[in-house]
Amino acid sequence: MTSGREKGLVIAIDGPSGAGKSTIGRALAEEFGYTYLDTGAMYRALAVRALEQNIPLDDAEALARAAAAAFISFDETGKRVLLDGRDVTEEIRSREATRAASEVAKIGAVRRELVRRQQDLGREGGVALDGRDIGSVVFPNAEVKFYLDAAPEKRAQRRFDELRAKGREASLEAILEDLRARDHQDMTRSDSPLVRCEDAIVIDTTMMSPKEVLARLVGLVRTRISADRPD
Ligand code: C5P
Repeated sequence: MTSGREKGLVIAIDGPSGAGKSTIGRALAEEFGYTYLDTGAMYRALAVRALEQNIPLDDAEALARAAAAAFISFDETGKRVLLDGRDVTEEIRSREATRAASEVAKIGAVRRELVRRQQDLGREGGVALDGRDIGSVVFPNAEVKFYLDAAPEKRAQRRFDELRAKGREASLEAILEDLRARDHQDMTRSDSPLVRCEDAIVIDTTMMSPKEVLARLVGLVRTRISADRPD
């Protein structure tokens, strides 16, 4: 079963917030010499644009225009996020931008614009994308689909530890509350809600270290790559 893509497979990684998708996606891409695409960062960058231009988060037309006009890119490491050339890597992680990202992501016209860009970036393969709708909408024919999950308390704790490690003040309760609200929003919206695709490999990372998760995923991708080699 060959993928027929020029640069390798498309690896879709979906799951709720804080399940470790970006850390694993990045490491997985590095392991295989693939490009990593953080699709959440694109919704976040658009949220920053909406906030700075005071666009109401329910104004679908204005947000669709903003999405079409925004040039969202990544530096060569895939780590820095640029909005019209300006580095917004830190800004997009603020609590306000995080909440707003989930709001703008509800709008169909916004999704269509960003999904189209994600498809353009990944079409030739050799890419690992993380998000909420990668296996269901962006690349329904992805060669490998993962759904990473973990208990909400565990996901909140990881986020809390991350912030504390950076010397930032944080409240575990507030993080858990935000996370549950975002899960609910992402799973119940009408356009492209977060779902477990039937053909996705579900991995519950609650009791696993990032190293263990990576080893598991690397093994599964290797198997798929071997199957992809023409005889
Ligand atoms: O993945 P991350 O938490 O950075 O994503 C921020 C928000 O963007 C999510 O809560 C979700 O609402 C939205 N998102 C989405 N589809 C994606 C990626 C992110 O709707 N593929």
